[in-house]
Amino acid sequence: MSLKIYNTATRTKEDFAPLHPPAVTMYNCGPTVYDYFHIGNARNFVVVDTVRRYLIFRGYDVRFAQNFTDIDDKIINRSAERGEAWDHLAQRFTDYYFQMAEALGVMRADIHPKATDHIPHMIALVQQLEAKGLAYARGGDVYYRVRAFDSYGKLSGRNVDDLLEGARVDVTADQKEDPLDFALWKATKPGEPSWDSPWGPGRPGWHIECSAMSMHHLGETIDIHSGGIDLVFPHHENERAQSEGATGHEFVRYWLHNGFVTRDAEKMSKSLGNFFTINEVLEKYPAASVRFALISAHYRHPIDYSETALKEASAAIARIREAVQTAEKLLGSNSPAPGTTEKQQADAALDAFTTGMDDDFNTQRAIGVIFETVATLNEARKGMSSGAPEEAAAARRTCAALAAVIHSMLEPLGLDALIFNAGNEAAGTDANATGGDTDQMGKLIDLLIEARAMAKSAKQFALADHIRDQLAAMNIRLQDHPTGTIWLRD
Ligand SMILES: [Zn+2]
Repeated sequence: MSLKIYNTATRTKEDFAPLHPPAVTMYNCGPTVYDYFHIGNARNFVVVDTVRRYLIFRGYDVRFAQNFTDIDDKIINRSAERGEAWDHLAQRFTDYYFQMAEALGVMRADIHPKATDHIPHMIALVQQLEAKGLAYARGGDVYYRVRAFDSYGKLSGRNVDDLLEGARVDVTADQKEDPLDFALWKATKPGEPSWDSPWGPGRPGWHIECSAMSMHHLGETIDIHSGGIDLVFPHHENERAQSEGATGHEFVRYWLHNGFVTRDAEKMSKSLGNFFTINEVLEKYPAASVRFALISAHYRHPIDYSETALKEASAAIARIREAVQTAEKLLGSNSPAPGTTEKQQADAALDAFTTGMDDDFNTQRAIGVIFETVATLNEARKGMSSGAPEEAAAARRTCAALAAVIHSMLEPLGLDALIFNAGNEAAGTDANATGGDTDQMGKLIDLLIEARAMAKSAKQFALADHIRDQLAAMNIRLQDHPTGTIWLRD
């Protein structure tokens, strides 16, 4: 079996063949740090994190970079509106990104380059383009000469002449040679931050940032470049023109783009005002449910954000948690090693999961396999307390093997730690609030379970019920089994 990835550049699913296996280089266009992120931005971070985790699961040695655009028109405008220094604003929302990413189980990138730390690389790249006749300076600005790059439009499947018709309508920068040309470097305006350059003080255009940072950190040709589908044109088209124009080599082997999050079938965006920021969502739902909702559909399809979807995700997470926790509590600390049969059963589940994910990261199919395994686990669990000792022992081995394989499948989806380690408080945003099953707490609960059993044998049922209800109020649910009582977190 081989992993297949849908490549936006060829519009086909291709066998994944990285340039220098097992190494994989990966770049994701990161946030412009001027505001809170909405659930659509969060989808990109979560999807790309899932892709990265799955590549690691498949044995690849992934080197992943995700930038921060920390200088841009939006940052300058917002800083002026708020009267807050632009770099302070950018740092505040960079910190916010890390907080939200951590809450959603998104791993830190190997490299988080900031645009303002790479100005010399951007200037050098613009100079390279100038030397090749692909860029020209006009009054302190520098533009890319789109018509001089033959394959412009190839990534997004656009024809330069069609683009021109659209562009003519809003020709504002009349100093450009051609309306299609885009800015590589912008001359400074009064009061704006600026850097010295061969063309005078100014700042980089947005597109040149990613070309320069991707090539500087990961090499001239990388394996995967990703972003939301709205970045295909013009951002990624321009990045490709800049990088390939300068080096003459292929810039990216696989272009990967995720679909929108819609709200009542309309694209969610800041300009439409119909978006939810990720912290608003995390105040209402646990992070595991939010992440689950964001990967429950195939990454290239649009998903509709709704309360119903989040509630369904929460119910799904609860089913997984309950099945695995119950089995593990009943197995106790000396979980049996799997025999040949149980190992085969677990391997078959993992193979089905891998087959789903190998098909262009089909998380929907992979999640389907997890639920089949959960159902088999729940069925096997009933046998653990059955009369015949041999059957009970076999059921214990099956449960141990299946619970372990469910963890193995949840890990590359980024859900394992969110479901089992992060506590289950409604607000996932406060990292310090996470409970975790500390030893001491576990012992205290075991003590209460013992006290409840003693109360029951002394026929003090009101006291026994009181212990159970008070624990339930703390989201600790007791479950009575023939072999004893176990506790689960809700
Ligand atoms: Zn970018």
